[in-house]
Order: sequence, then C-alpha cells, then structure tokens
Amino acid sequence: TLEPYDDDNIFARILRGEIPAKPVYEDDYAFAFHDINPQAPTHVLVIPKGRYVSWADFAAKAADAEIAGFVRAVGAVARELGIEETGYRLLANAGPHSHQEVPHLHVHIFGGKKLGAMLV
Ligand code: 5GP
Repeated sequence: TLEPYDDDNIFARILRGEIPAKPVYEDDYAFAFHDINPQAPTHVLVIPKGRYVSWADFAAKAADAEIAGFVRAVGAVARELGIEETGYRLLANAGPHSHQEVPHLHVHIFGGKKLGAMLV
C-alpha cells in the first residue's frame, strides 16, 4: 500500500500553516486552495484535514462524519467557485501509476473552460 502517511508531505505542511496557500474554503473536515500550477482557469485542490494518503486509505480509516464532511466540502467548493452550471471535473490520483505527487489525499477540481475528453 501507499501508507504509512508522511507528516512532512507538502499538504500536511500547508494544513499546519508552514507553507502558504491561496484558500478557497475551510471547515472542520476539509481545506481547499488553488493549485500552484493550474491546468485550467479554475484548478482547486480539496483535501481532508485527516492524515490519509489515498481514497482507499480514507475510505478504510476515516470516520463517517469525516467522509460526509469531505464529500460535502467538495460539492460546496464547486458551488462557491461558480462552475456548477458550466461544469467541472473531479480527479483523485493515487500511487505511482497515476503520477500522484503529494501523498495526502486530494481531489482536483478543474473548470472554467471546455475540458478535453477524458483520457487514461
Ligand atoms: P497530484 O499529481 O499529486 O495529483 O497533484 C499534486 C498537485 O499539487 C499538482 O497539481 C501540483 O501543482 C500541486 N502542488 C504541489 N505543490 C504545491 C504547493 O506547494 N502548493 C499548491 N497550492 N499546490 C501544490
């Protein structure tokens, strides 16, 4: 598996306030901020506040309230960004085959333009 969780990963440091980020949304369960290297006019990352490497790790270990809170946060961010009507894409990489760079679960939200067709 991709675990154990590394407390020195860059998103853990952002959550601790050690590295700045441009915030979009925050609640008890989630934090959202603009990607430093945006791949679309809107490119936001939503992360759970808990220590989870991947979707599978989160699904296996998180409390139901954390899971519900995170899912609701992703939806709230899409709504607050104003891209609900024009559309958006969610993406979560996990592990080497996906090119996951940062080993803290994150959902990318892409929008603000007509996106390319989904490729694998
Ligand atoms: P992954 O490839 O792991 O799914 O995506 C990691 C994302 O994190 C990339 O899109 C990358 O641009 C973004 N990223 C990496 N380091 C930082 C950082 O220090 N601040 C912010 N805001 N985004 C970062």
